[in-house]
Amino acid sequence: MSTFKQEPHKLLVIPGPIEVTDEVLYANAHPSMSHVSADFIPVFGDCIRMLRELLFTQDAQPFLIAGSGTLGWDQVAANLVEPGENALVLNSGYFGDSFSDCLRTYGAKVDEIVAPFGDAVSLSELEAALKQKKYKVVTFTHVDTSTGVLSDAKGIAATVKKVSPDTLVIADCVCSVASEEIRFDDWGLDVVLTASQKGLGTPPGLSILVASQKAIKVFETRASPVTSYYGSWKKWLPIMKAYESGTPAYFATPPVNLIYAFNTALKQITKQSPSIEERFRLHRETSARLKHAVEELGLKQLPVKSSVAANGMTACYFPDGLTAADIIPPLLKKDIVIAAGLHKDYKLKYFRIGHMGISAIDSTRRDVDKVIAALKESLAEAQAGKNASEPVLVGDLEAGLRRWPAPPPGVLPMLSPPITLDANLDLTATVTALRRFADMRQIG
Ligand SMILES: *Cc1c(COP(=O)(O)O)cnc(C)c1O
Repeated sequence: MSTFKQEPHKLLVIPGPIEVTDEVLYANAHPSMSHVSADFIPVFGDCIRMLRELLFTQDAQPFLIAGSGTLGWDQVAANLVEPGENALVLNSGYFGDSFSDCLRTYGAKVDEIVAPFGDAVSLSELEAALKQKKYKVVTFTHVDTSTGVLSDAKGIAATVKKVSPDTLVIADCVCSVASEEIRFDDWGLDVVLTASQKGLGTPPGLSILVASQKAIKVFETRASPVTSYYGSWKKWLPIMKAYESGTPAYFATPPVNLIYAFNTALKQITKQSPSIEERFRLHRETSARLKHAVEELGLKQLPVKSSVAANGMTACYFPDGLTAADIIPPLLKKDIVIAAGLHKDYKLKYFRIGHMGISAIDSTRRDVDKVIAALKESLAEAQAGKNASEPVLVGDLEAGLRRWPAPPPGVLPMLSPPITLDANLDLTATVTALRRFADMRQIG
């Protein structure tokens, strides 16, 4: 084992990329290797096998392709949906918008059920939509990273199986694999797509997609040609099969070093302590602890109820009167990196904290404790700042100006234009300007 330790750095607690272990980062520094060498082939093959283990599937087909999570949408749209076919997108935030956009780009006819902000799409609405029209695929975002909303993957898959058994169930699990429970075979999922940099605790750069044999059959029996070159399963399926069976094959160069890193991350997740089940439990516990702490601080969460709140991230509204500028830069000064809002209609109103991977499962790091303490301090400082400066400034200054025959020398820089306090001061105009300023800022 190497003694490599990564540089001291700011704590990265956004909903991906996340903090990675020293072992994973060191594996990424593997000497350059041929992608078809006998030493590398089983490293790739083991990634495929361990992914099945992580998702509790016997025979689903993994695809590991250089790219980001987004490439998973392209793979679905180009390989499983033919131009003109119907797709139903269960939209619980920003990433639902994007998946729809991607499907339309490849010629799918997309319907969406848009959940109210902070909520997931209800199963009864899904059922009603499936009875209205035949869909080739239903897609949903397991955790929408823009809202922190968790969808009921098991319930969605069961509803689709019940009403429209031929329809493929596609899960965008970029922000849920390894942080939320996913049972691919038991639940009857057809595609789980994800990326390396979120719960999987690996640097970004890998698109990871797992397809059921049913989905592979749908792909193999499509009538029209696949609508992508780089993302075509026609190209990639033989490559994945070759790596798994231990033989070299080439279509496009895999990100060799990243595969070493990913292999190390998967070993930590599937072969070491905690177990996969324990990992889910620890994510739930860490999440509950952080969510309790933010509530104690008086912050309201985006998810409308705890049953739709993700366990790998937390999204909270800023308190009244405070904005991103009052919270995010002060946290950064305390070496803690959190994320701003992302949802198009509400992004200025809230912030997001990620707690996946080692930040959730390794309590000796105290990552979440550090976040809670820093948030508490930053909120207190911001609130004290607001209380101290403005109301006192306006109220007291006005009283002072009225009382003194000649005002104390100085400048009132918050007024536009700034007013100079001197013997020539127009008292009435200054008091009017101060009152206008106070009204505008709703302070006294
Ligand atoms: C991050 C994310 C994506 C996009 O992944 P990239 O790696 O940024 O391309 C898609 N869906 C969800 C739910 C995500 O959280």
